[in-house]
Amino acid sequence: MLNSTGLEKRREPPAQPAHEVAPRILNLPEMVAALSDEDQERFDRIFSVSEVSGALAAPEAMHDWIRGYFGSVEAVANQQIIKVTNRVSWEGALYNELRARRPLEVRGTADLDRVIAETRNDPFCHPLDGTPADTFGRVQGKHSITASNVAKYDGSHGIVIFDEHHPLALTRERVRDYIDTAWKWGQKAHAADPSASYFFFMWNCVWKAAASLVHGHTQMTLTRDMHYSKVEFLRRQAAAYCAQYAANYFDDLHAVHRALQLGFAWRNVSVAVSLTPVKERETLLIASSLNDNLKDAIFTVLDTFVKQFGVTSFNVAIQMPPIGPAAEDWSGFPVLARIVDRGDPMNRTGDIGAMELYAASVIGTDPFFVAEALDAAFQEA
Ligand SMILES: [Zn+2]
Repeated sequence: MLNSTGLEKRREPPAQPAHEVAPRILNLPEMVAALSDEDQERFDRIFSVSEVSGALAAPEAMHDWIRGYFGSVEAVANQQIIKVTNRVSWEGALYNELRARRPLEVRGTADLDRVIAETRNDPFCHPLDGTPADTFGRVQGKHSITASNVAKYDGSHGIVIFDEHHPLALTRERVRDYIDTAWKWGQKAHAADPSASYFFFMWNCVWKAAASLVHGHTQMTLTRDMHYSKVEFLRRQAAAYCAQYAANYFDDLHAVHRALQLGFAWRNVSVAVSLTPVKERETLLIASSLNDNLKDAIFTVLDTFVKQFGVTSFNVAIQMPPIGPAAEDWSGFPVLARIVDRGDPMNRTGDIGAMELYAASVIGTDPFFVAEALDAAFQEA
């Protein structure tokens, strides 16, 4: 059955000369074959791609419905599926042509706007008496203030509460301020508990992305002893890659995306639309530090998601080396920001099921279209 998430206006693929392979995920095997030997070798170190078609026989009675939904019966009778696996991070994605091409309803945001308006005057609208402070106090930003999370994920768990209720009222200056405020909180929390030095930044925008309050906010934690399991796993895998190939994994990951026109550099930030996204439109931003260019790049990705793709629910995470000294080797590990679209909040179907939790992610958007839109947006940024 259909998992009806990831609604978007359909984008037509760009016109291509007949001799060129159109940049589309279903053409990935041909696109890889057209790369230089060096780029192909780098691609093969990191990725594995396999292609299969799925067939079915639809009863006559379904034909009208199928034509209405997918354009033609033939398109459904034989479906092309591409499976991409990252052999380093062991993230995987399954792309189905039908999911990428199915006509999607264009929805307004009126229902969401109504919910956002109805939730005004929540505790985050008056944080000083609606939320607890950390024992070391609050960090005051220009557009935000921190609170201590009531029910903590970890020993140090704070919230950056925006001074604007509407969670999608984003500007470059605001996004910088939210991240700066979170980082200052991290420094203070680390000073209060020097044994907690692994900082994690997360932003869950509305309930579809697991936010408990609609009011705009981000969260951050500091953990002890070792980084969170997914970050530590990535560090270990990247270190093993470096030992095997004498190359930085993150540099090579970006180079592969760049060679396929899924990535580009903007100032000193490497942008890549992931070939193995955790869910729709996952975009990776790689930088050497948590600098202003990285913060601005996060804003540009979010702004493009919201304005061009109609995204209203997303997650942002920042995975980075610890604040203080650590027993393990973090050399070569960058500051990695990851941004993912979580689908339509007014759709009751969840976007993450047993496949995503335990097998590989099922993806309905073409990363090449996302990269094209981001490339244009960054050129104007
Ligand atoms: Zn509010």
